[in-house]
Amino acid sequence: MIKVVKFGGSSLASAEQFRKAGDIIHADAKRRYVIPSAPGKRHKNDTKVTDMLYTCYAMAENGEDIMSPLRKIRARYNEIINGLKLKMSLDDEFKVIEQRFLEKAGSDYAASRGEYLNGLVMANFLGIEFIDAAEVIRFDDSGEFDADTTNQLLRERLSKVERAVIPGFYGAKEDGKIQTFSRGGSDITGSLVAKACRADLYENWTDVSGFLIADPRIIKNPQGIKVITYKELRELSYMGASVLHEDAIFPVRQEGIPINIKNTNAPEDPGSFIVESTCQKPEFTITGIAGKKGFVAVNIEKDMMNSEIGFGRKVLEAFEENEISFEHTPSGIDTFTVFVHQEEFEGKEQSVLSAIHRLAEPDSIELEADLALVAVVGRGMKSTRGTAGRIFSALAHANVNVKMIDQGSSELNVIIGVKNDDFETAIQAIYDIFVVTQL
Ligand code: ASP
Repeated sequence: MIKVVKFGGSSLASAEQFRKAGDIIHADAKRRYVIPSAPGKRHKNDTKVTDMLYTCYAMAENGEDIMSPLRKIRARYNEIINGLKLKMSLDDEFKVIEQRFLEKAGSDYAASRGEYLNGLVMANFLGIEFIDAAEVIRFDDSGEFDADTTNQLLRERLSKVERAVIPGFYGAKEDGKIQTFSRGGSDITGSLVAKACRADLYENWTDVSGFLIADPRIIKNPQGIKVITYKELRELSYMGASVLHEDAIFPVRQEGIPINIKNTNAPEDPGSFIVESTCQKPEFTITGIAGKKGFVAVNIEKDMMNSEIGFGRKVLEAFEENEISFEHTPSGIDTFTVFVHQEEFEGKEQSVLSAIHRLAEPDSIELEADLALVAVVGRGMKSTRGTAGRIFSALAHANVNVKMIDQGSSELNVIIGVKNDDFETAIQAIYDIFVVTQL
């Protein structure tokens, strides 16, 4: 049995955190491959090493002196090395990094050094082999991630090592030029390693005990989610619940490998399991609630719209022409509404409106701004009658006016549009009716 373990930045921000990670790894011999992030924040007002590297590199590009910021970055690692009493020095590494910064090796190279150096420290601390991600994570010439080559390279390399540290977040093109994933991308590396070694489990260690049913900034001490399917997670993370990088799901999902989100600071907590499918009934009818503010509804009316073939396409073409992606399109007999992100829409508003007039010739168009979307997600909703009824009566009791309703045919989610000002109240009301009353 193989477990791949990825530790996030806050789990490796100091010597003390490194020790916790070490204890976790040593507690289970199956934890064979370790993916570290760069050191994150030690406290609320701290700066992540990745951000320090980006800043330092920008200074190098501007021709400014980088001695002082580089010294601060080095101090972060030395604090860990000394705290762990390791017999190693990164002095030579920092000489190379300084040189490469001055040669303008690229901001991806700069940012990747956070994980690279932390990987060297981790490998030394654990006394196991270090595999540079540049050798095994591959991007093609145009900068696209090359999944097949990566899987081959990784699989071959890992088959020869029993235990290893592979730094997260970056890889390289064939010519050796370093490239990173988007921010938070160490999650992806962990997933790729899990896929390549056909792991039984991908443990993702972070600073929370898994997913919560709702945002703790809105709901006080929300319940945790024990098991969530990939599909449910996708719905929730799209709507703003973020613990795991979105792209980390795909490699393990293809192989049917579950992910366990765990808390480095509370390792005994079970955390959340992300699985392909499960016959385990969710604890509550709903698995989670998430949402976002800042939408505009573009309401379009036209008599006999219903029988006009291609009307929807013409309207959506107006958005496409303006390169605006739409979120939802609830419709009536002679009405058609398009929900778009307010920020994206505002600058292009008049151009979209004239395009709709030109393409679809509607009778009228009305805009309604400052709306929020709330997604109620749960595999349990399919088999439970009355879910929608409970949602809407809870909202009515809380005096929330519902502007839009959209239930996907999979019955996995119900999306509700409300005013921005009602957003928190709506989430609280839904949480109360499905969770608080069931405790
Ligand atoms: N260190 C990188 C970041 O801060 C990648 C990661 O932590 O996953 O985004």
